[in-house]
Amino acid sequence: MFTSLSDRLTETFRNLRTKGRLSESDVNKTVRDIRLALLDADVALPVVKAFTANVRERALGAEVSEALNPAQQVVKIVNEELVDILGGETRGIRFAKQPPTVIMLAGLQGSGKTTLAGKLGYWLREKGHTPLLVAADLQRPNAVTQLEVVGERAGVKVFAPERGNVAGHDAVGADIEGTRSHGDPVSVARAGIAEATARQHDVVVVDTAGRLAVDADLMQQAADIRAAIEPDEVLFVIDAMIGQAAVETAEAFLEGVGLTGVVLSKLDGDARGGAALSVASVTGQPIMFASTGENTKDFEVFHPDRMASRILD
Ligand code: GDP
Repeated sequence: MFTSLSDRLTETFRNLRTKGRLSESDVNKTVRDIRLALLDADVALPVVKAFTANVRERALGAEVSEALNPAQQVVKIVNEELVDILGGETRGIRFAKQPPTVIMLAGLQGSGKTTLAGKLGYWLREKGHTPLLVAADLQRPNAVTQLEVVGERAGVKVFAPERGNVAGHDAVGADIEGTRSHGDPVSVARAGIAEATARQHDVVVVDTAGRLAVDADLMQQAADIRAAIEPDEVLFVIDAMIGQAAVETAEAFLEGVGLTGVVLSKLDGDARGGAALSVASVTGQPIMFASTGENTKDFEVFHPDRMASRILD
């Protein structure tokens, strides 16, 4: 991820290194190169425009510095602007004053929600919490079983609807032999939270259904779950590999469900990184975590400053 963007920016800065002072045309050329590098990395156009306008203005207005040569000064400005579009400060989970803290996961099918639930559960457990994972994705035939597997690997309890019976409530759907009941995800989510309260789990992670593309039913279901369980965090999980489409998807979820944070998944892939660089800026919500592989521990807290340094390394 970001290798090509990183190389392009390094090359741009290398061209500046021999300059004693930057003329306006040096700044313009540099900004043009940065703009092309960002566009080629699939960063959304409005984000690129705002970014380059800020860099240009600051580079032209930069004081002559004794400590930094012009190239270093531009690198510093670009670094600060990158941190800014990546969300600025690192933001952790906002825990509820009164447990359990409820974290709802939303996103398209295949974005990595179920995998993330396990990772988040493991991470929370390591931090001394007692999480419960709730299987409210009743759309995909194997999602419940997958969450149970993921939970077991992470050493975290999973609350799932029983076959033909939704969480001790009346059965709400036909029980097809060998599969789970396609019950009501809102009831499952509610019952999961009641279970967490009764058994003193201090954090609940609710996995929800996704579709392959944004559609009205999916949004309605996620919005209904949100309204029913009033989560402290709604984390939007986005596959960093989907490039430009990430922005539209994020906007649809922001509008349809409402989000409090973003998780970038599949950051271990070789995507060009545009999603990562656009989503925080477009949604106005911080990127809180990054998923970097298929295993439980392939997970990290997202630090905008470290990511910016990695890109400019
Ligand atoms: P969901 O439909 O949103 O619940 O997505 P899943 O959690 O089932 O993930 C879809 C696929 O992506 C699975 O094959 C996961 O193993 C894989 N996956 C999830 N997160 C990552 C990640 O960070 N890196 C990689 N390489 N694969 C991932």
